[in-house]
Amino acid sequence: GLKKHFPVSSPIPFKKSDQRVKAVDGLSFKVYKGETLGVVGESGCGKSTMARLVNQLIKPSDGVVNFKEANLVDMDAERLRLTRQKIQMVFQDPYASLDPRLQVGQLIAEPLVIHKVGTTATRKKRVEELLETVGLNKRYADRFPHEFSGGQRQRINIARALSLNPELIICDEPVSALDVSVQAQVINLLKKLQAEFKLTYIFISHDLNVVRYMCDRIAVMYLGRIVEIGTYEEIYKNPQHPYTKALFSAIPKENPFADKEHIILKGTVPSPLNPPTGCHFHERCPVAMDICKTKEPNMITSKDTHQASCHLIN
Ligand code: SF4
Ligand code: MG
Repeated sequence: GLKKHFPVSSPIPFKKSDQRVKAVDGLSFKVYKGETLGVVGESGCGKSTMARLVNQLIKPSDGVVNFKEANLVDMDAERLRLTRQKIQMVFQDPYASLDPRLQVGQLIAEPLVIHKVGTTATRKKRVEELLETVGLNKRYADRFPHEFSGGQRQRINIARALSLNPELIICDEPVSALDVSVQAQVINLLKKLQAEFKLTYIFISHDLNVVRYMCDRIAVMYLGRIVEIGTYEEIYKNPQHPYTKALFSAIPKENPFADKEHIILKGTVPSPLNPPTGCHFHERCPVAMDICKTKEPNMITSKDTHQASCHLIN
């Protein structure tokens, strides 16, 4: 039931605006230990806000985030700090996410320092070990971020995220800023680390090919909500929601003649300031009916693992 509504500043000075951007508007999902849950959707559908809510970088307007039964939303600061060691994040832009004034060793050790783990000597050793884990030379510790390529910087970010032995890593478009050849290396590294350290990933991406390679289950987001969630097979082979069908019809196929048409959606994602009534997707939906304009569809479970919200499903 997660919601995040951001206040909008009023164009009139000293006048409070009561408008809200509904970036995340009633999200419910589970992430199972050891899996990779992919989160897909067009830009502006609330994926990054969702990521920040999960690890409490921002507080929700409503709803809970349970991490192994404990609700992070109303934890006191000290307990949240300890729990957060287990939930780390890798951000999208490796050029912006590393402080250019810090050496790589300092960057990777920073979480250890903040969480008061180890001594200067043990941290140094841990940094070297982490550099090797992500496929970098341990002598890189005294270099600066600008000396590295995008892919290497993302490896540094991953080393930093691993430093506190997390259980869950939220990857927010971790390879979107990288060249395609480098993307594959970073994805393979993430897969290797998952097996080695039994990691759980929430993997946000708008690149459906990357998601296909990486994820066990997929959640499709539209305007701050999940419209469909299921296993990789269910979402790719048997999508139920018209938005999922359109999204996945856009991926190039091995045999383009054997497949259904490419569904092109009208317009862009509407503003989360004034989401459409009824089904949020009705203005763009190729199969919308009258009821869709007024009545919001519920999440319908077609299989234990597969749910979608659309009036056409029963
Ligand atoms: Fe389309 Fe209606 Fe289904 Fe929404 S509820 S996706 S508008 S058919
Ligand atoms: Mg984003």
